[in-house]
Amino acid sequence: MKKLAILGATGSIGTSTLSVCRSNPELYTISLLVASKSVDKMLILCLEFKPTYVAMSCPVATAELAVKLKAENCPSLLLNDETELLQLLGSAEIDSVMAAIVGGAGLKTTLASVEAGKEVFLANKESLVMSGQLFIDAVKKSGTKLWPVDSEHNAIYQALSPRLQNRLGHCSLQAEGVSKILLTGSGGPFLNKPLSEFSTITPAQAVKHPNWSMGQKISIDSATMMNKGLEYIEARWLFNASREQLQVIIHPQSVIHSMVQYIDGSVIAQMGNPDMRIPIAYVMGGEKRINSGASNLDFFSTPELSFLPPDFERYPCLKLAIDACYQGQHATTTLNAVNEVAVDAFLDKKIQFPQISQLVDSVLQQTATQHVGSIEQLLEIDRQAKNMALQIIKRDFLC
Ligand code: NDP
Repeated sequence: MKKLAILGATGSIGTSTLSVCRSNPELYTISLLVASKSVDKMLILCLEFKPTYVAMSCPVATAELAVKLKAENCPSLLLNDETELLQLLGSAEIDSVMAAIVGGAGLKTTLASVEAGKEVFLANKESLVMSGQLFIDAVKKSGTKLWPVDSEHNAIYQALSPRLQNRLGHCSLQAEGVSKILLTGSGGPFLNKPLSEFSTITPAQAVKHPNWSMGQKISIDSATMMNKGLEYIEARWLFNASREQLQVIIHPQSVIHSMVQYIDGSVIAQMGNPDMRIPIAYVMGGEKRINSGASNLDFFSTPELSFLPPDFERYPCLKLAIDACYQGQHATTTLNAVNEVAVDAFLDKKIQFPQISQLVDSVLQQTATQHVGSIEQLLEIDRQAKNMALQIIKRDFLC
């Protein structure tokens, strides 16, 4: 049995991962569960899965969980801080890591897992968006096995040859006859909403994705299509794709999860119900297909499939992300950082929905081009961009 760490265990991906573990108890032992503040959820998981180790990033939550674990006589060992967590991720106690912390907060642990050569199931796209070439260099150096969990990248991975699958980040699509990666996206809840009504969109409306059930941040990112923009950058790094090899297509039904087009005109698509347990089971099964617990696609009740080009007026965040992808690492790190601040501010009702893209644009325009050569430099760019975004919100945007 492999020893699994789940980073972001209490979230949407964490919950789906544990569901796949429940359906396949012979594959993994749970070595480590990590979350931030959800003490009661974590306690329930500890009592069911009895992880050897558990960690909370928030010190107050750590103290609370310590009391509750003791009261329940739970044998899981609670880690004290990030240093202990990073050490554990590098140790022989862990074989595989589900990287599913939301946002840039997942960068250090995801990268530590890669550097330690663990098998990494990558859901935390923001870490790759933030660190790009540095991340891919670390994958190459450690020889880690990287598996894309994001449904689109997982679909693309499934449609690629084993030669490309085993050389993620430094493969040649052209040499394998791939002409295009076709990244599909539903368009979110506001695909048909009049643009004139966008300033009245509430957080409750924006988190309601038509097809997927996900955490709050990615749901807002799907409504702005920043999520597709982040995925575009993720695909650029994972598949070593050029601008000409990457295309975004709106596919409102979310039946096809993405496609690969070959030079002979063949297009290979991966399909299935919109249930993250499917890509999660794919990566956790490794070379073998396993039961995901998801229902099968019923072709006779599936709506007609349709495809549209993206409208950048409706989805300015998508355009900003695609442009940032070719401006350089400082731009994608900044884009990601400001988007995190903007999504939080929108959820807190401090800014309006259209101001998410305006804020990202505004900070990007004020950010000077610079070469990024280290993680410390990235974290500094992230910090500065977030500060600038907070200042602009205070000065110009407060509702
Ligand atoms: P959720 O918001 O549902 O869950 C986030 C998880 O991260 C929670 O367990 C949360 O803990 C934990 N967390 C947050 N901050 C920290 C921190 N500083 N240290 C440790 N843990 C932390 O997010 P999702 O599951 O929706 O998304 C997770 C990642 O997966 C994102 O990067 C997302 O883009 C990606 N993804 C998600 C998909 C989905 O369907 N949900 C699909 C494809 C990709 P706590 O509960 O204590 O706050």
